[in-house]
Amino acid sequence: MIERIVVVGASTAGLATVESLREAGFRGEVVLLGAEHRDPYRRPALSKQILLGTWEPDQARLVEASTLRALEVDFRPGHRAVRIDRRSRTVQTDHHAIETGIIGYDAVVIATGASARRPSWASYSAEANRPAPAIHLLRTLDDALRIAGQLVRGRRVTVLGTGILGSEIAAAASARGARVSLVGRGAGLSLGAVGLRFSDRLRALHAAHGVEVRTGAEVEAVRPSDGPGYDVLFADGTRSGSDVVIAAVGAEPAVAWLAGSGLLTDGSLLADSHGRVADRVFAVGDATSWLDPATGTHRPCGHQLTAMEQGRSVGRLLAAGHLSPYPIPFFWAEIHGARIQASGRLDIADSVELLAGDHDSDQALFEFRTGDRTCGLVAWNMPKPFRTHRAALLAERSPPTPLLETS
Ligand SMILES: Cc1cc2nc3c(=O)[nH]c(=O)nc-3n(C[C@H](O)[C@H](O)[C@H](O)COP(=O)(O)OP(=O)(O)OC[C@H]3O[C@@H](n4cnc5c(N)ncnc54)[C@H](O)[C@@H]3O)c2cc1C
Repeated sequence: MIERIVVVGASTAGLATVESLREAGFRGEVVLLGAEHRDPYRRPALSKQILLGTWEPDQARLVEASTLRALEVDFRPGHRAVRIDRRSRTVQTDHHAIETGIIGYDAVVIATGASARRPSWASYSAEANRPAPAIHLLRTLDDALRIAGQLVRGRRVTVLGTGILGSEIAAAASARGARVSLVGRGAGLSLGAVGLRFSDRLRALHAAHGVEVRTGAEVEAVRPSDGPGYDVLFADGTRSGSDVVIAAVGAEPAVAWLAGSGLLTDGSLLADSHGRVADRVFAVGDATSWLDPATGTHRPCGHQLTAMEQGRSVGRLLAAGHLSPYPIPFFWAEIHGARIQASGRLDIADSVELLAGDHDSDQALFEFRTGDRTCGLVAWNMPKPFRTHRAALLAERSPPTPLLETS
């Protein structure tokens, strides 16, 4: 009998779980633990509206306070889970009072997301007698507000990392009037699971907005320079000056607190295609990798709508025993005003065709195919055709896989 569900992590995936538990009829107790001292907010807005300065922080909220109340959830912001004990079925938080610090559960949902990865050289690049360079990372609203405060007209901003997030940050910084360099060690600019296929398009977009792109460039260190700002030192011996350095070099699942719980496999939190990790333990969102029934491999989440869908799946499963189909990946990005949307298994495509729009214009819809089957879509500034074709992609997805025993 499940009477109390503890959801650890109060963001997209955790909140979607709570909403779906209630929608599917769960009337028991729901405790939602959040490490941050904030109500849940939309992380995608951080690299877009918040850095651009077009939204106040409050506009990034995921839910109104009244909605949280209506969900009758025992929401505890500023409560970081530090340990899970599966024998006693308890989650321990960093709150010392026994009545709030140790919480019993009948089922627990881990939704602790990810943290921004720090470049490997960042910890040793500071010289002993000089202040450590402030290398910004972007994962939380506080990070975004700190960075937004640095994006001042005329400042030299270096963004390290040529993935989607790096491109978005560079675009926002240049829109704020900064002089931006976007630097990566890879051969081109990547678009998540799409890889480098649109690197030239992205390069042209950045060039049109004055962002200098440098690829194939290995950064060795960032040091305070003799004048103002920092020197970015490259492996080939060159250096460039910068006032602000922001690293966007990936994210790591926030699962260190589960060490010793027996829930991690080689450091990763692996779940089946329904989000089950072990008996009474579930995981959703960026913290976990779900088993993809089509390939038999575990795939990280990494995107807002996938995190939501996983939360909804687990909510329905826990509340009503309802099985949902495996989520089809979906993400979007906004770079210099271009809206890029992508969905499906883009990594397995063996060919790509233009479905609508024009190859060389800023409006184009591409179909990704494996053999004679459509496996994904990527749209540049074509939201309506994208929606229509995505509906067809969703209609083709396989039915839910059956539940197997968990230990
Ligand atoms: C800047 C930025 C821009 C993005 N833009 C896009 C985009 O345009 N499109 C897109 O599809 N996706 C985007 N994403 C990815 C998307 O935001 C994530 O996939 C999504 O937020 C994952 O949701 P989550 O709930 O799993 O994890 P998170 O949003 O990371 O939330 C995890 C929560 O758990 C809390 N937590 C961590 N550890 C503990 C603990 N021990 N105890 C209690 N609480 C804990 C954290 O404080 C956090 O609030 C972006 C991400 C970032 C950082």
